[in-house]
Amino acid sequence: MSDLMQATITRYRQRLATKAVVQSRGAIEASYPVLRNLLGERLWLVAVDDNTWHAAGKRLAVTLDAAGARWERYDVPPPPGGHEPLCDDDAIALFAEQLGSSGAAAAIAVGSGTINDIVKYACSGLGLPMACVATAPSMNGYTSGIAAILQHGVKTTQPCEPARAVVADLDVLSDAPMRMIQSGLGDLMSKPVSNSDWIISAKLTGSHHSAEAMQIIEDGSRLLDGVAPRLLQRDRDAIDRLSASLMLSGFAMSIAGSSSPASGGEHLVSHYLDMTAHAHGLPHDFHGCQVGVGTIAAAFVYEKLLAFDVQSFDIEARVAELAPWADYLQLLRERFGVLFDAVVPHARAAYPEPDDLRVRLEALRAQWSEIKAEVSRTLRTHESIREELAQAGCPVRFVDLRVEDRKRAFASIAWAKDIRSRYTVLHLAWELGRIDTWAGEALEVL
Ligand SMILES: [Zn+2]
Repeated sequence: MSDLMQATITRYRQRLATKAVVQSRGAIEASYPVLRNLLGERLWLVAVDDNTWHAAGKRLAVTLDAAGARWERYDVPPPPGGHEPLCDDDAIALFAEQLGSSGAAAAIAVGSGTINDIVKYACSGLGLPMACVATAPSMNGYTSGIAAILQHGVKTTQPCEPARAVVADLDVLSDAPMRMIQSGLGDLMSKPVSNSDWIISAKLTGSHHSAEAMQIIEDGSRLLDGVAPRLLQRDRDAIDRLSASLMLSGFAMSIAGSSSPASGGEHLVSHYLDMTAHAHGLPHDFHGCQVGVGTIAAAFVYEKLLAFDVQSFDIEARVAELAPWADYLQLLRERFGVLFDAVVPHARAAYPEPDDLRVRLEALRAQWSEIKAEVSRTLRTHESIREELAQAGCPVRFVDLRVEDRKRAFASIAWAKDIRSRYTVLHLAWELGRIDTWAGEALEVL
């Protein structure tokens, strides 16, 4: 698998900040020369928490000490009242402060999404290089130029400088909690809908689309053939393929300059669950596990969309019933409560004026057969996605994510478009006036 990653790094070396992925058994012990070359022989701040220290940190420490490297340990604290680290503005500021006071010239994140994002974002802001020692094949952020940050209660994705090097030790990844391995598969299962969202966004809003990024995603996707049923056995080859596919997905985001290749409406479902979990102390699951369920939901919405009679849809009637922004604002206040202030700027940015809505729906009608043909090439049915996730024991229904409240499950599909302005099938379904109906029907299979 390393060959495909290496070929991608070589091919795009001018455009990728990540210069090396060391992925193998014993990768940690083999990593020092790569870290020295890419981080420089200076003081490194190594960020861990209890779990990641035991999973990989101790081995890294032995390796660094044996090589005579200068490093200091930093334990990422949980937020006040919390048990696990959280990537929010406070955690990033704390780490940045520690970088400054320690005099470190580079950092190493030992962890998965949260610790990686805290370190990546803080280092990016200070112009310092960082590397990551992956502890689980749980998401595609190791090689991406994006950090997922909870800002004022809203889950946002912020651009930042990617890791210079990623160390993915297959023994560590294979020993990760099964739920985190399943999360990695769930994150990658978003491809059929996130790529379709990217296509409709490019066609209907003129957003940037990158054929190169799409190709990298396709390459990574092919690695997953037959992987799902082998993950439950922690099969090393399957973990190797899963990890490589996640790394390629991150590269695709770096090449595209945004998360678009790998994050569409299905990710908004997950972000909505994270935000409401954080705001109200409700249950949530790992990012990719939620994305998997969101992907089934979004694929279902696509099925409804593709069966919808766009040609005889009454555009003028829909434009006439568009609520003025002031009225919609009131609705948002009722829906989002304590999250209202944080959500409004995102919702406002996507809320159309009547003329915008007319233009978009007319564009949809004019390009409908082309759009249908293009998204049909990448889409899959919600049943086939559910089946593949189920083979790996991944969550496939909201209750599997411990989201028992059906109203919250409904809202995660029907209201999620207001938390990010980038156009997705959820925005389109809302613009067609169908989101409530289709989200309600989706719940019958979720
Ligand atoms: Zn993701």
